[in-house]
Amino acid sequence: MFEKVLIANRGEIALRIQRACRELGIRTVVVHSEADTDAKYVKLADESVCIGPAPSAQSYLNVPSIISAAEVTDAEAIHPGYGFLSENADFAERVEQSGFAFIGPTAETIRLMGDKVSAKRAMIEAGVPCVPGSEGALPEDPKEIVKIARAVGYPVIIKAAGGGGGRGMRVVHTEAALINAVNMTRAEAGAAFNNPNVYMEKFLENPRHVEIQILADTHGNAVYLGERDCSMQRRHQKVIEEAPAPGIARKMIEKVGERCAEACRKIGYRGAGTFEFLYENGEFYFIEMNTRVQVEHPVTEMITGIDIVQEQIRVAFGEKLAFRQKDIVLNGHAIECRINAEDPFKFTPSPGRITNWHVAGGPGIRVDSHVYNGYFVPPNYDSMIGKLIAYGKTREQAMARMRIALSEMVVEGIQTNIPLHRELMQDARFVEGGTSIHYLEHRLAQRVTDKVTEK
Ligand code: ADP
Repeated sequence: MFEKVLIANRGEIALRIQRACRELGIRTVVVHSEADTDAKYVKLADESVCIGPAPSAQSYLNVPSIISAAEVTDAEAIHPGYGFLSENADFAERVEQSGFAFIGPTAETIRLMGDKVSAKRAMIEAGVPCVPGSEGALPEDPKEIVKIARAVGYPVIIKAAGGGGGRGMRVVHTEAALINAVNMTRAEAGAAFNNPNVYMEKFLENPRHVEIQILADTHGNAVYLGERDCSMQRRHQKVIEEAPAPGIARKMIEKVGERCAEACRKIGYRGAGTFEFLYENGEFYFIEMNTRVQVEHPVTEMITGIDIVQEQIRVAFGEKLAFRQKDIVLNGHAIECRINAEDPFKFTPSPGRITNWHVAGGPGIRVDSHVYNGYFVPPNYDSMIGKLIAYGKTREQAMARMRIALSEMVVEGIQTNIPLHRELMQDARFVEGGTSIHYLEHRLAQRVTDKVTEK
């Protein structure tokens, strides 16, 4: 096994990766910005290297600094976590060219899946069901574009091939608005993603977000670890995730899961990855692949008993997966609430000093967080300060435990979205299960109306 791994990330995932390394007997190097010097995981690491000032561009995205930190500490491998450089093919390439193992897929795979047009083409070839739409990037000729849209059927969505983070998309309801929308998305995509290519998909009106977790080794083995439902979203950001997805037949999951595993074998995928789908009227439609560990990986770990981060490290070292598809048994149900430092009504970020931090506990409760009493939440990064995960034999038990856990959580000094989670765990539609990706936004709009009428 590797003797030393460098963690090129921050926050809860830096701590999560560190824990996985320690369990595997691997020494850790943590790189950090000046804003994270006092983070607990920095102190817990075997070694730490300050790689720059608070702004990410000068620290967590500073490739030369990260590579030099790995060189001076004699690390053998680099784990990129999620966000930051995790899906940057040039970074993965630099890491390997500098003689380190990249804990993730090859640069070539990241590039293939990072361009949504090439990703979709690869998935169609592998037999993964995709949203109907244009074959590849849209042509220049407006007449051709109109023809494609008629064939797909309105409403359609124009998406940037290089898009990400919910940016670079435009929904079009009528032919009159089509060409203007394509031109605007093209211009934005060229400026924001350095790639003006756009493509067209049928716009699904009321889908759920269901994703398949996969693991693949470098010996041609790939398995799927079931699915997660991440439909509870605000502004395309996931707020609550759960596994399994309520109300979807196992047979359907097995069918699509097997296609995903097969696609991994076909493209020579390495490590952990997620195939994201929209699910509507009993059908799965691939939208994109994430070539990294995801925030919501713990819900899958809880129901499979597989440590996804440790598996990423083992695979990067060249080990074979120790299990086959038939060995993967899903047990029980898990729910994750993302705890954000933000106003629970207005959603404005709420950085600052945490004066009191008391976490929940008890059967089936897991808290992944780097936060502690007196911790200062820096204003420079994502507002997520931790994840509360509840496991139960059934969805009802997981939810009951989550309600208790949320009632036990105490966070003072800053605002968090815990009150929102408390509300949602009582919400009749959420409790029933199977809400669409628009449900949370509608529910939040309703909350505003209710408040006004109360007054
Ligand atoms: P990103 O990489 O920016 O996250 P995705 O392709 O994953 O882009 O899409 C982000 C979100 O946009 C989806 O979760 C969904 O809410 C919406 N979306 C994308 N494609 C479609 C579609 N064809 N129909 C309906 N909604 C879509």
